[in-house]
Amino acid sequence: MTTDTQQAEFAVEVRGVHKSFGALEVLQGVDLLVRKGEVTVILGPSGSGKSTLLRTLNHLEKVDRGTVRIDGDLIGYRRKGNKLHELRERDILRQRSRIGFVFQNFNLFPHLTVLENVVEAPVSAQGRDRAEVEAEAIALLERVGVGDKAHEYPRQLSGGQQQRVAIARALALRPAVILFDEPTSALDPELVGEVLAVIKQLARDGATLVIVTHEVGFAREVADTAVFMDGGVVVEQGPPSQVIDDPQHDRTKAFLSRVL
Ligand code: ADP
Ligand code: MG
Repeated sequence: MTTDTQQAEFAVEVRGVHKSFGALEVLQGVDLLVRKGEVTVILGPSGSGKSTLLRTLNHLEKVDRGTVRIDGDLIGYRRKGNKLHELRERDILRQRSRIGFVFQNFNLFPHLTVLENVVEAPVSAQGRDRAEVEAEAIALLERVGVGDKAHEYPRQLSGGQQQRVAIARALALRPAVILFDEPTSALDPELVGEVLAVIKQLARDGATLVIVTHEVGFAREVADTAVFMDGGVVVEQGPPSQVIDDPQHDRTKAFLSRVL
């Protein structure tokens, strides 16, 4: 037994997470709970710690203090007595393979075809059967509307198509949660809608999603919970009807008045 697993009530359970870069404390005690099948949208000004928080969820950043659990699994560490020991790289990669991550800049492998991009991790990190994963990958590419691009390379696709491939790649992991870090902010305006439409469909299908975005209208439509972060803390969270339409904190009001 190399991991510490609890019966999971939450898909994502972040407790008291602190993270500093040098003298700068970027996360100052963040708590975040996401139930299975729920969509959480994180809003907040640039530099407020949103990307760092997402990156701690799959141990791309180590936390200084606090814990992260995904689907009950303690991420990055195992508990021995009351001490935490960092997991070996192999175990971290295995944990990471159950967490989908969709980046601002797509991050597809340029030397692999679209299909190979989707098939890579389930085969290499999860040890699944290649033929079975390929069949599933083709179905996923069709689901996000790029089934006809399976044998092309990322550079032959538009940004919106590349991002939809990245979403299919995340789904192929059968992840406990998919994390999105500003998935539309690198796209030309006319391509934003096609990517948001795919994410909305995932939400309707019951996927567990954590989405950092500046698309407030989309957040209002898709989120079960909206979280407003500023200066490394969660300033307020709740249903979008509250956080977005009736914010209680001056910092939330000021931010929304700038982006709406
Ligand atoms: P956001 O995604 O909300 O814009 P980030 O999490 O990217 O915020 O960054 C929060 C702060 O942490 C910023 O001041 C940023 O410059 C700093 N930061 C992020 N990553 C690093 C790093 N690897 N080294 C040093 N500082 C960092
Ligand atoms: Mg960011």
